[in-house]
Amino acid sequence: MEYEIIIGLEVHVELSTKSKIYCSCTTDFGGEANTHICPICTGMPGVLPVLNKKVVEYAVKAGLAANCSIAEYSKQDRKNYFYPDLPKAYQISQYDLPLCQNGYIDIEVEGGAKRIGITRIHIEEDAGKLMHDENETDTLIDYNRCGVPLIEIVTEPDMRSAQEARAFVESLRNILQYIDISDCKMQEGSLRVDVNLSVRPKGQKEFGTRTEMKNLNSLRSIVRAIESEAKRQIEVIESGGIIVQETRRWDDQKGISYSMRTKEEAHDYRYFPEPDLMPVVVDEKWKEEIKRSLPELPDARRKRYISGYGLPEYDASILTGSKALADFFENAAVKSNNPKAVSNFILGDVSRILNDKGMEAEDIPFPAEYLARLVKLVDMGTISTTIAKKVLEIMFEQEKDPEAIVKEEGLEVVSDEKALIEVVKKVISNNEKSVEDYRKGKDKAFGFLVGQAMKETKGKANPKLLNKLLKEELEKKNL
Ligand code: ADP
Ligand code: MG
Ligand code: ZN
Repeated sequence: MEYEIIIGLEVHVELSTKSKIYCSCTTDFGGEANTHICPICTGMPGVLPVLNKKVVEYAVKAGLAANCSIAEYSKQDRKNYFYPDLPKAYQISQYDLPLCQNGYIDIEVEGGAKRIGITRIHIEEDAGKLMHDENETDTLIDYNRCGVPLIEIVTEPDMRSAQEARAFVESLRNILQYIDISDCKMQEGSLRVDVNLSVRPKGQKEFGTRTEMKNLNSLRSIVRAIESEAKRQIEVIESGGIIVQETRRWDDQKGISYSMRTKEEAHDYRYFPEPDLMPVVVDEKWKEEIKRSLPELPDARRKRYISGYGLPEYDASILTGSKALADFFENAAVKSNNPKAVSNFILGDVSRILNDKGMEAEDIPFPAEYLARLVKLVDMGTISTTIAKKVLEIMFEQEKDPEAIVKEEGLEVVSDEKALIEVVKKVISNNEKSVEDYRKGKDKAFGFLVGQAMKETKGKANPKLLNKLLKEELEKKNL
């Protein structure tokens, strides 16, 4: 039997506000354990929380960017559970009246765009961090993360494969980086994904029972966890078993998940309204203000790159897939009259070098304008494309503009006929066999001879002129 995989995600994102959600402690990552804390975020008796306005603003930004409707009136609730990472024994979250609802995000999948529904986005506080490995017999607790503001983004069960889930997380992360409300560093835990997954025989209408895998912290582990869990569920069903609704922990090292606990229901949390906080009111005026403050989003940018810069869909998608890359492209493109060549450089050699060096687009060490100038040097025929690659490598190493590099390293194209004829003659006399082959009509031999001449000039020969001179010289020999 063929099975279909059904996936819905719950994504927790730490907001990059300066202070925590209900107190003025810093949200800075790291720091010595239990130094970013106060009586409020450690839940001492008698303290009162005060909502950080920026948290609401950021969450509304996310809601608008994900095409949600924003609730004019929402409230905060206590989600009760007893675990040492939560000193109050409840987390302040939102239950029945979340801030944002009914949105969507479009993702790129094989065969075009697909719309993934966003059920809700609500605000809540993060919990502390338990460290089980530092000490053999005890668990240590760091409350620095306690009270760091989060949004939780819940999707509809609209994804059908690990690739779609991955594409969704990438799109979501990209949007959140564009609107600048989180650094979305999965490895530091500022973007964490829970995967809800079920399988059903192809053609069946009802969903199967789902399991939930918690806190996946890399794209790779999301993909692997999904593939492994889908396989496990299918095997259970095929062997006559039933799927138990439960929470599972993914062990990335071993590549397997195991049962943590049976799934808790909402009533297990004894949700009730947080009596110490006022309702959250986002009136039309504030909402409009936030809407106006939104930057251009990836989708709009992609379309503009196609219509405005005449880029192919492929280039536009990759460039806008990272805000830093898109910014870099745009800053170079406005200084260039050859945006396609700028894009080619970025998608080609710049990306390759970044990849080799393990760097991100935001780490490019030279101003985007330098790339525009490099493209211009090629377009004017001052340097060849081969040499341009070399100049680019140097731009990553030294703080120099491309013109200075070309000058200092003597990389200008050699267009001096006399000098080139000397080179051509030398190549011809050193490669008799190839000259013979050329005479017999082998085109390949000509390419080889050009290559040798280029090598001789360290890639600096003006290619057009070199071709012409080589041909002429070979014809002479023919006589
Ligand atoms: P809870 O509040 O118990 O976590 P929800 O109904 O809000 O449960 O769903 C949580 C997530 O699980 C959502 O992302 C939703 O899309 C997803 N989901 C719900 N039912 C299924 C299912 N049968 N298969 C896969 N995912 C599902
Ligand atoms: Mg849930
Ligand atoms: Zn505090």
